[in-house]
Amino acid sequence: MLKKIRSETVLKGIPAAPGVAIGPAFLMDQQDYIVPERVISDEEIPVEVARFEEAVHHTKTEIQSIKEKIAAQVGSMDAQIFDAHLLVLEDCMLIDEVKKHIRSDKYGAECVFTRVIKRYVEVFEKIQDDYIKERSTDVEDVGRRVLKHLMGESRSHDFEHLGSELVIVAHDISPSDAVTMYNKKILGFVTDVGGRTAHTAIIAKSLGVPAVLGLKDATLRISNQDEIIIDGRKGVVIINPTEETVELYRREKEKIIQYEGSFANIQDVPAETLDGHRALLMANFEMDGEIPAVKKYRAEGIGLYRTEFFYMNRLDLPTEEEQFKAYRKIAEEMAPHPVIIRTLDLGGDKFLSSIHLPKEMAPFLGSRAIRLCLEEQEIFRTQLRAILRASVYGNVSMMYPMIAGPGELRAANGVLKGVKQRLREKGVSFNENMPVGVMIEVPAAAMTADLLAKECNFFSIGTNDLIQYTLAVDRTNEKMAQFYEPGHPAVLRLIRRTISAAHDANIKVGVCGEMAGDPVLSVVLLGLGLDSFSMSPSTIPVIKRAMRSIKFSDAQELARQALRLSTGQEVEEFMTAELTRLAPDAFNQEGQLK
Ligand code: PEP
Ligand code: MG
Repeated sequence: MLKKIRSETVLKGIPAAPGVAIGPAFLMDQQDYIVPERVISDEEIPVEVARFEEAVHHTKTEIQSIKEKIAAQVGSMDAQIFDAHLLVLEDCMLIDEVKKHIRSDKYGAECVFTRVIKRYVEVFEKIQDDYIKERSTDVEDVGRRVLKHLMGESRSHDFEHLGSELVIVAHDISPSDAVTMYNKKILGFVTDVGGRTAHTAIIAKSLGVPAVLGLKDATLRISNQDEIIIDGRKGVVIINPTEETVELYRREKEKIIQYEGSFANIQDVPAETLDGHRALLMANFEMDGEIPAVKKYRAEGIGLYRTEFFYMNRLDLPTEEEQFKAYRKIAEEMAPHPVIIRTLDLGGDKFLSSIHLPKEMAPFLGSRAIRLCLEEQEIFRTQLRAILRASVYGNVSMMYPMIAGPGELRAANGVLKGVKQRLREKGVSFNENMPVGVMIEVPAAAMTADLLAKECNFFSIGTNDLIQYTLAVDRTNEKMAQFYEPGHPAVLRLIRRTISAAHDANIKVGVCGEMAGDPVLSVVLLGLGLDSFSMSPSTIPVIKRAMRSIKFSDAQELARQALRLSTGQEVEEFMTAELTRLAPDAFNQEGQLK
């Protein structure tokens, strides 16, 4: 069969989270979905039949396009397997049986379809003919594809029962799928789509496992249980490696462990340059399970609490009380260090089953983050109440994502003012002076930073989005990865402008996008005068070592020179060469182990 690759095969993708993993593959899209037994009313029958017909239609189109792609890449013989899949979908008996049972049994389409497919597979498996027996795999494959279309965003996988340690291989991993993987035995991630700052990459880093994304057709080439090596620094995935390759990578893993051990001596010292300039290194935080890592790497606070993950994988919305408890817990754990809670940033690539949003053509440019909160004010107010109540339990600040200018900031602050007034009336205590910041993630915000600075207490630059919106490059689209240039002069100029505007207004400014955790580019940010850097906890020692090995005056000079260059590539090359010359120990090794 096409998918079975027995010999060692090397695939190249986008290096999205560092580290090396060796283990068996778990093909996510080939696992059984948890199908709800949903009873339907008479009125819903035509809707369910239509949904089923639509799912069959989409599956046919999908298979047809895969077939064409494979025929072009590998040859028409290999593509023939998909003819068998198309035949299953053209089997009138199967299709009619599903429709008949939706009408008679009155269950949702996905539930009826699963039962019918199961019966078909059982029948095929009992037949004493190897050829026909094999067809049961086709029926199962097609069944999964149809189910994927029927269940859409709400499908969930049964990770609870993951037994051994596995490498997750998927076409894509939604942030809500990724969240369910916390505390599971996951060695790393491999996906067909996605870029360096897609949320899969962020989750992989926070889990401390490697990820290689944007491999285009990894799910077609890898089979369940294939042995896989992921090299997250180089963006390499090796399928069915030889014994020598496995040995080579085992040694690599040991080197990484030694390299991590070498950070022990800087654990308890600050990120201070050779000439005494201090920067604040903070952690990005998504959920409770990360607290030990935040402490282990001595984060000097939480620079970005991505609260939307708290809302995921549930059918209801978190109550004020639940949120209050979660915010209070992290505030108390981190005190006296600051905790910056970001208000809900939904939309883009993060969706919830509890809020039904209409599908948009360009979700990253649609109703996302603060826009959505200003539309759905009750959800926003509930979160604001919870944050305000938690503000008395530690050093809590709050910031708004995706602000595009002073108008939106005023609208958000207007809602906040109302919520504060209500709490006062009810006698509920909160910190009247809780700092409120603005995330600078949209070029418009960077361009109006001087105006915004007058109306907020701090800035946090979200470079993941700032790069996406400045360069018009979808951060999740692997095909655009070459255009996603953090060192692009336009990005650096917007950052410089933001930092100057903040300092002119006497407010602090940090970066909480992935750029803060890039050793080479973090020196540019330092040289530009950035006050704080927030990143996945395990990156803190790498950045600390970089900062402790250079002089602030050198960083300032390098930043000045970098800003005169014309392309992102020139900036990265120039900085890497200069830093390797100035501090070979910190940057050489980093170059190898990044
Ligand atoms: C960013 O955009 O840089 C950021 C930190 O926010 P997120 O990655 O959650 O969009
Ligand atoms: Mg963002």
